[in-house]
Amino acid sequence: MKDKCGIVGIHSKDSSKDVSHLIYYGLYALQHRGQESAGIATHNINFGLNYHCGMGLVTDVFNNALIKSLAGNVGIGHVRYSTTGASKLESSQPFFTDLNDGFIAIAHNGDIVNSGALRDELSKKGYEFKSDTDSEVVCYLIKEEHKEETDILKIIDNVSQKLIGSYSLVILINDELYVLRDPMAMKPLVLGETEDFYVVASESVAFDVMNAELIRDFKPGELIYFKDNKINSYILPSAKGSKLAHCMFEYVYFARPDSVIDEKSVYNTRLKIGEALYEEFPIDADLVLPVPDSSIPAAIGYARASGIPYGEGLIKNRYVGRTFIMPTQAEREIAVRLKVNPLRHELKGKRVVVIDDSIVRGTTSESLVKILKAAGAKEVHMLIGCPPVMAPCFYGVAMATKEELIAANMSIEDIRQKLGAETLGYISIESLVKAIGIDESKLCLGCLNEDYPTEIPDDLEAESYYDYYNRLSDSEDEE
Ligand code: SF4
Repeated sequence: MKDKCGIVGIHSKDSSKDVSHLIYYGLYALQHRGQESAGIATHNINFGLNYHCGMGLVTDVFNNALIKSLAGNVGIGHVRYSTTGASKLESSQPFFTDLNDGFIAIAHNGDIVNSGALRDELSKKGYEFKSDTDSEVVCYLIKEEHKEETDILKIIDNVSQKLIGSYSLVILINDELYVLRDPMAMKPLVLGETEDFYVVASESVAFDVMNAELIRDFKPGELIYFKDNKINSYILPSAKGSKLAHCMFEYVYFARPDSVIDEKSVYNTRLKIGEALYEEFPIDADLVLPVPDSSIPAAIGYARASGIPYGEGLIKNRYVGRTFIMPTQAEREIAVRLKVNPLRHELKGKRVVVIDDSIVRGTTSESLVKILKAAGAKEVHMLIGCPPVMAPCFYGVAMATKEELIAANMSIEDIRQKLGAETLGYISIESLVKAIGIDESKLCLGCLNEDYPTEIPDDLEAESYYDYYNRLSDSEDEE
């Protein structure tokens, strides 16, 4: 699974201070949210829009000279992992377009489920799209509203009313930065500051690298802008009374453990997930080990609660990127071995509890159990820090279709047998909600219980895992 994107926005309190280097560092800290492309747009006092985007990691796309050339005292940045639109330069962000009095550039984290219908409307009005992404749709919607209305707050409220789905947006309109979190607050968005800058980002880890202080999370439906060097907060009138739907997967898997989202430490939540797994599955074992890296805190939590020693039975190869689809189980095992290698002397003859953050299609878990047993583990007890994933995500998470989700098609006992594990246990929804510490009514649990927080258009289909990977491979071939 991949989350869609990470965003950063910076407003300098002093017009002589450039923001591009800080945006770069912020994007670097958010690299886990998107590895396919990166981009920065700034406003330069002499010539307006200053812009660079490229394919690859932040360090592939930018160098010192480029960052210096992006001089400007306000700007936005984006890292992308495509869930809609092909993986190609035209889909990279920020998007920009001209306005009658300058330009607009936007960067977006989330997914607009009704973007198809909105795109058709804009096409009829003569808009030509350079990509097939929903973020470009939002850019043109703002441009269209701007023709009739000059009040930016009204424009953004009008556009927000048309959008169904998840969106955290940084919007640069000439030299002004506007930042919006959708009314359901599905994707994270935080506000901070240094002595010289106001900063916003998808996750608070971006502030740590900038040495910025976290002020707070954006409120649902909150638009913040920095006119007169002040933080101006405006709750969209249309957002008032909206239900909340924070994505539970940010806590389970996507966000970095050192982030704090909606006042909850992601690391602590994962520790509690591990403790809850022990309460629900108190297994007699010799060793608790994580599937690295995202399951490490939960495995520590399980080890602390159980008193069973924590160990590293699997070592991650940090240099493996995307692996190709492996059609046979033997090939899939090679792909998993590329990513994690078992420590035979740690595993030999031991009963191991393996903590993983989630199971989607089940193919990796099957390979993992085989690898652990081949390395000498006597018993393998798989415990999962996310309840069974029963349905696709339509809000910006590349997952799979229902047909591909193993838990949607098999009982837990059948999955256990298929994996070849002695135990297979998933945390319950109740325990997960308790570990996150946010009321269930304020969380999105759509992929767990199909209770989606918005309507889903009839013609919107989740992308197949296989189509998704083929799309990425095709894009690579074209480059
Ligand atoms: S459906 Fe699942 S992954 Fe998607 S936003 Fe909701 S909780 Fe997050």
